[in-house]
Amino acid sequence: MLFLGVPMIISMKLHSTQEEIDAVCDRIRHFGYKIHTIEGVERVVIAAIGVGDVTACIESLEAMPQVEKAVRISAPYKFVSKEYKEGRTRVRVNGLEIGGDQFIVMAGPCSVESEQQIMESAEAVAAAGGHILRGGAFKPRTSPYEFQGLEQEGLKLLRKAKERTGLAIITEVMSDRDVPLVAEYADILQIGARNMQNFSLLKQLGKAGRPIVLKRGLSSTIRELLMSAEYIVAHGNKDVILCERGIRTFETATRNTCDIVSIPLLQEMTHLPIILDPSHATGKRSLVPALSRAGVAIGADGLLMEVHPCPEKAYSDGAQSLHIPEFNQMMQSLKPYIEIWKQSRMTEGAVAV
Ligand code: PEP
Ligand code: MN
Repeated sequence: MLFLGVPMIISMKLHSTQEEIDAVCDRIRHFGYKIHTIEGVERVVIAAIGVGDVTACIESLEAMPQVEKAVRISAPYKFVSKEYKEGRTRVRVNGLEIGGDQFIVMAGPCSVESEQQIMESAEAVAAAGGHILRGGAFKPRTSPYEFQGLEQEGLKLLRKAKERTGLAIITEVMSDRDVPLVAEYADILQIGARNMQNFSLLKQLGKAGRPIVLKRGLSSTIRELLMSAEYIVAHGNKDVILCERGIRTFETATRNTCDIVSIPLLQEMTHLPIILDPSHATGKRSLVPALSRAGVAIGADGLLMEVHPCPEKAYSDGAQSLHIPEFNQMMQSLKPYIEIWKQSRMTEGAVAV
C-alpha cells in the first residue's frame, strides 16, 4: 500500500507572480512530491502530495523569499500511523497473536545465567500460563565490570528451554552485527531502551525476519519511539511491538517513572501492539503485580516481566525480579482483569488485517 497523504501545505506570499509560484512548485517536485495548487484571489496555496523528506523540503522552501509559510500537516511517521492502516496489527509468533484477542505474558529472568536457572524459569513460566520466555544473552550494562551475558552460549540455552517447554523466546540484540546470530535462535528480537535510537541496528532489523519488541528509550518521547518503529517498518519489517518500560524523571523512589498513559495514547496514534514492562518501570518487585494489573486494565496487549528462581542470587536485576511463587500468584490475580480485557477487545471488534 502506498501512502499518498498530504504531508505539507505551502502558502505563497500575497500577490506572488506565476514565475514565483512555478519556482516553488519546481522545488517541491525536486523533493519527489506531486503538487496541487489552490488559487485564491490574492494568495496561492500549494498542497504537496506523496512521500519524501518533509523536513528537508520545508527547510528548503522556507529559504525561498516568495514562500510565506510551509507547514507539515501529517505525522512524520507514516507506516506505523493509524492513517496508513486501520485496525490493529497482529504479530504472529509460534502460534500466538500479539495485538489480537489474547493477552500475552512474556516472562523470565533478566539474564540467562546457567542451564538450571533458565530451565527452572522456563518451566515456571509455562506452568503459570505464561506464553513467551524472556532472558538476555547479550546484556547492556551500565558498568563494564558487570555481567555482560553468556552470548551464544546463552542463546543455546534459550533454545533448549524452548525445546523443553514449547515457549517462544524473546531475547535482546544489541548490535547490528549480531542480528543474524540472535535471529537464528530467537522468535522475537528485543531492542533495549539504550538502543532505541541505534539507527544502524534499527535498519538491520528490517531484514531480521523476526518480530521486534522495541523498548522506549530512557529519555525518549512518544514521537521518537514511533519514529524508531518507523525505521524498522520502512526497512522491511512490519512486525514491531512497542514496549513502555518507564522513563527517567526527577523521581528516584522508583527506578523509572512508568508513563502508563503512553499505552492508550500510542493506541490512538499507531496500529502496532503495545506491551508494558512493569519490572524495569519500577525496579521494585513489590510494585510489579499492581503495575501489571494496571497494564491489563489500561488495555496493553501484554506484559514483559522478570521472574527468577532465586532473585537474591541473580546476576542482574534481582531486586525487580519476582520469585516463582509471587509470579504464580500474580498470574492468578490477573485473571479477572484479563477476562474484562477480553470482553472489551471483543466489543471493540478488533479487525484482523
Ligand atoms: C532488560 O529487559 O533486561 C533490559 C535491559 O531492559 P531495558 O532495555 O528496558 O532497560
Ligand atoms: Mn533487566
